[in-house]
Amino acid sequence: MNFKQALNYTNKFYKFLRKLHSSGTSLPGKYLRKFYPDFLIEAQNYITSYKFAITGTNGKTTTAGLLAQILKEAQKSVIHNELGANMPNGIATAVALGLYNNFKEYGEDTPVDNLVIESDEAYLRETFENITFDYLLVTNLFRDQLDRYGELDITKRKIQEGIRINPNLKIILNADDPGLYDIDKNIKNDMLLPRKKRKVIYFGFENVEFCDFEAKSNSPSEVIYCPVCKKPLKYSKRFYSQLGLWSCICRTKRPRPDVSADVKVFRNYSILNVKFEGKSIMYKLNLSGLYNAYNALGAITCAYAAQIDRKIIARALDNYKPVFGRAQKEIIKNKNVALYLIKNPTGASEVLRGMKNIKNTKLMIAINDKYADGRDVSWLWDADFEVLEDFDNKIYLSGTRADDMALRLKYAGVNTGLMVIDNNIKKAFEYALKSVEPNEKLIVLPTYTALLTLDKIIKNKA
Ligand SMILES: [Zn+2]
Repeated sequence: MNFKQALNYTNKFYKFLRKLHSSGTSLPGKYLRKFYPDFLIEAQNYITSYKFAITGTNGKTTTAGLLAQILKEAQKSVIHNELGANMPNGIATAVALGLYNNFKEYGEDTPVDNLVIESDEAYLRETFENITFDYLLVTNLFRDQLDRYGELDITKRKIQEGIRINPNLKIILNADDPGLYDIDKNIKNDMLLPRKKRKVIYFGFENVEFCDFEAKSNSPSEVIYCPVCKKPLKYSKRFYSQLGLWSCICRTKRPRPDVSADVKVFRNYSILNVKFEGKSIMYKLNLSGLYNAYNALGAITCAYAAQIDRKIIARALDNYKPVFGRAQKEIIKNKNVALYLIKNPTGASEVLRGMKNIKNTKLMIAINDKYADGRDVSWLWDADFEVLEDFDNKIYLSGTRADDMALRLKYAGVNTGLMVIDNNIKKAFEYALKSVEPNEKLIVLPTYTALLTLDKIIKNKA
């Protein structure tokens, strides 16, 4: 099998699976890599400009989506694993389909400008063994589900192993996360170099202001000890979880960001005032939540590294349409529906923070405990569902662990009379949708596999 045949077969196999209504984004890549082990290594020769990898606990999909949007707005051709399959097989599928479509549209062997790949933290090394990236952006490191507790250091080590494979890699880091401080042991020496020659580029917020939004964050903090001396960290400002302006008595402190910003967070959008090389530019982001402002700042930092014009970046941020459960907005049967994936205490708490005192809203929460969701749902107890204490509308609870969710809400002080439980996600979604009055909207908070089910239901407009 030669390279072109490999592309053709993968495309055919993918389309066949789609016909069977299988969302199979990894399976074609799995076979591709079995019969053509060097596929990714060869495929990257068709990428002529920057190759970006995005990893970290939360925000990978949105950050990669924003960056791809910016590059496309700049008239670049981009291959991006937008379906969110972020392990090597899924990445191989995305690259094969991207190249296949590019050759079909622009002619055989036409190269692609950019590659934007979201990579699972644990598989970063394997991904890096196959593709030589120019930039790696690490968004943050939070504790994921409780059954993975204690694995933060292991995750960090896996990212470090990936970094070590490619000596020319430039790393883009969130300065506000002390957990990323020692991700590359060479950073300290690097700070002595002139900015342009440095291997690491930092981004971070100096000021965060919450307008028409709950300012108090109750998300749990995972890293509270100094990455160097292990003493408790001090914060002059703390934005959420362990993110903020941190320092330690041992003089270790938050690195000064190369790309810094002030942000005003509104309920439905954010305004970022981004400073870089002495200039400041305002960007409007049509996504709510400080966590999304962080995603945007990361994507902007990547775009600066790729020398994209600032007006183009602004237009792309304004045009960005969130996909697949990341503040995804849909109109179904004339009703407004918004979906927010929840998967760990920090992410869920930041989503919930936007829902304090929310009016004219029906709510659906769908909690599954399949492997991809994390079998242990005790993380629900660490997420700040107390925000919903005064919620005064119907809450539809679904998924395999709907009862656990009901119990959690009861302890959060939610009126049990408002809760409607049905384990069947399709049925619960239908009830919830039917109950939405003309002046109301429906907010859905699903775990990962519940989101996959909802995605199918929405696509069939069921
Ligand atoms: Zn210290």
